[in-house]
Amino acid sequence: MQILTLHEQEELELQLIKQELESGGVVVIPTETVYGLAANAFNEQAVNKIFEVKGRPKDNPLIVHISNVNMLNELVQEVPAKAKKLMDKFWPGPLTLVMKKQDILPDAVTCGLNTVGIRMPKHKLALKIIETVGFPLAAPSANLSGRPSPTEVSHCVEDLGEKVNFIVDGGRCEVGVESTVLLVAEEPFVILRPGIINQKQIEDVLQEKVLVNDGLQPKEDRIVKSPGVKYKHYAPKAEVLLIVGDFKEFKNYVETEADLKMCAMVFENEMNNFSVKCFSYGKQSEPESLAKNIFTILRQVDKENYKRVFVHMPKQNAETLVIWNRLIRAANFKLINLNKR
Ligand code: AMP
Ligand code: MG
Repeated sequence: MQILTLHEQEELELQLIKQELESGGVVVIPTETVYGLAANAFNEQAVNKIFEVKGRPKDNPLIVHISNVNMLNELVQEVPAKAKKLMDKFWPGPLTLVMKKQDILPDAVTCGLNTVGIRMPKHKLALKIIETVGFPLAAPSANLSGRPSPTEVSHCVEDLGEKVNFIVDGGRCEVGVESTVLLVAEEPFVILRPGIINQKQIEDVLQEKVLVNDGLQPKEDRIVKSPGVKYKHYAPKAEVLLIVGDFKEFKNYVETEADLKMCAMVFENEMNNFSVKCFSYGKQSEPESLAKNIFTILRQVDKENYKRVFVHMPKQNAETLVIWNRLIRAANFKLINLNKR
């Protein structure tokens, strides 16, 4: 496996990547959300390789990444006018739009659904790679299925280093959580997976309400519409325990329950108050900073061999829904509400 940086030998390295993708291989590429495991979306065998390499369930469809809107013509039957408004506002960026697919797109990408999720990533290298190869790339996150999503090259090496020929280094992912997935193939539009682009921002552009599958309960009929959200996800080896409560309650709980094999994930201003090791995931007032650090910290918790991590949860609202959605899966829905005791 080779890590490519695309700094000094950019042309040469782009050609290596192009050859690999043209010949049906898979390549790990950076995006602004998380690292992706990419293959030619029109090559069924290459797409199947993604599922094999990740150990991804065969009914969990892939998002297709494009570098310009002309690529939509061969992928979707039509772009609804309202969806176009969202593209104008949020592309390139972390918003996936699910539209009616064209028949020529292999079923392997969409797992037999008649819709396809598409987005234009914002990361310079992702755009350059797609532009260079000239075809759309199907790409889920570049982790082993079920593990925390990869936000740094080292995470990809850890999970897939022996299974891929090339990993492109794009530095630390700026957003750190996967895209918002919005179903626009039918109305009303539905957020199938919350992301950093939230319900309010989408409604502001559309000037109308959208529905949201927040994914905060273990079983809901949303799983029928977005198969991927039903699986255990994002989980480190350590047990994750989510805690709701003010700082004092949280601190008391952790100090009573924790031993040296346990750690806590807390807000920046709460550090240095605990007898156990703490990881700061940012300021409660800046949900984007919290989101960016979630997966990086969950991986670090494993690296340092902690058996359990207590997570101090932010107040739940439209902006923090993405954090809740990911952490509640990582915790396998284990949540303790200290306010209710
Ligand atoms: P990943 O790329 O691993 O972050 O997962 C992609 C997510 O997008 C999963 O939750 C899928 O269920 C969802 N998704 C992709 N394509 C579709 C589609 N055609 N319809 C509904 N959900 C989709
Ligand atoms: Mg994933």
